[in-house]
Amino acid sequence: MAHTLPDLPYDFGALEPHIDAKTMEIHHDKHHAAYVAKMAVRNHGGGHANHTLFWQLMAKNGGVEPTGTLGTALQKAFGNFGGFKEKFTTAAANHFGSGWAWLVVNQEKLEIYSTTNQDSPLMQGHTPILGLDVWEHAYYLKHQNRRPEYITAWWNVVNWAKVAELHTQATKR
Ligand code: MN
Repeated sequence: MAHTLPDLPYDFGALEPHIDAKTMEIHHDKHHAAYVAKMAVRNHGGGHANHTLFWQLMAKNGGVEPTGTLGTALQKAFGNFGGFKEKFTTAAANHFGSGWAWLVVNQEKLEIYSTTNQDSPLMQGHTPILGLDVWEHAYYLKHQNRRPEYITAWWNVVNWAKVAELHTQATKR
């Protein structure tokens, strides 16, 4: 991965009203930029990779329940889409301190868990296909300490087309 800050694939305000423009600007221009500037250290390398993925996992008109192969895989792994959403939300809401919630492909199987700080599922050989930043800097400006409120808003901007693309890449033999 290049040691450069990628442009966001949309404007700072594109995810309004769910994710506010000021949070996006500070998150990208200050936090992600700092990880790029200090990439020699493990946490900063992970921070760069995680954020580069995270920006692509959101889109203006996201949030529509996935169908197709990914929809079927989610049903198979978690019972139904509601079951998936509940399990992911719990992982994100209950993660203690800074970190990320993930939906990963582990040997073709979908799993949900959280990681601490900037650790990536790639570090244990899993492919992340959906991730949510639950560091306070991702939501504090708008939601203060109310992380569950941020998670609820974020579901409205999930870029399921991108998640499906990553799922396909991770599961093709
Ligand atoms: Mn972040």
